[in-house]
Amino acid sequence: MTPQKPAPTPRAFMLSFDDGPLPGKTDAVLDVLSRFRGEDGEPLRAGFFMVGDAPERFLAGRRYFAPYELWWRKGSMRRHPELVARALAEGHIIGNHTVHHVWARWPAYRHMDAVREEIQGWEEHAEAAGWNHPTAPRLFRAPYLLHTPTMTAAATELGYRIVGGQTVGDATPRNGLRAVEQQIRHILNTPDTQPALLIFHDIRPVTTCHLGALLDRLQLEGHDLRHFSA
Ligand SMILES: [Zn+2]
Repeated sequence: MTPQKPAPTPRAFMLSFDDGPLPGKTDAVLDVLSRFRGEDGEPLRAGFFMVGDAPERFLAGRRYFAPYELWWRKGSMRRHPELVARALAEGHIIGNHTVHHVWARWPAYRHMDAVREEIQGWEEHAEAAGWNHPTAPRLFRAPYLLHTPTMTAAATELGYRIVGGQTVGDATPRNGLRAVEQQIRHILNTPDTQPALLIFHDIRPVTTCHLGALLDRLQLEGHDLRHFSA
């Protein structure tokens, strides 16, 4: 008889979503989240690291996005302020993910001025959409999680806390539900006393379609869904 593998220890986890807001995507995720509660029984709060105004056209995107990245549309707080307002009204936390979703390895972003402009430019779009700058938490997550010395220095200087996290793989084009679920299990089955901070992308169909069922399954297995805090 082979000994049974012990069941993995349940782990606490929090949710964050990068690269929105886009209609039909961010609102679908907000609908799903409205079904869930945090550890205190209050409606679940997640973190949304939104993009100020990502270019809509392929060639414009090439200036900012990582060269290896396949093209898809990313979010714009400028064009979709109603989605920002809805996320805020529902208690979620909005974080800075730059205006154009810049890839920090482009030569321009080795300069503090260019990075500062990206971070402060985001604030203009966020404030226009209802982000209340003096009281709101100032959280920054660099696109592609590229927290280079320049990115970190500029964000810190502007009063931001750098927020990392663990990506669930939904931005990798070949990844379907199975791969994403495997990655999440891998993260949650790694013992740690700290809650895991999962990074999803609310603009990716695998997430908008399957988030609710995924969260249901993880909770059934005993994993503990918590409010986002950073
Ligand atoms: Zn991103």
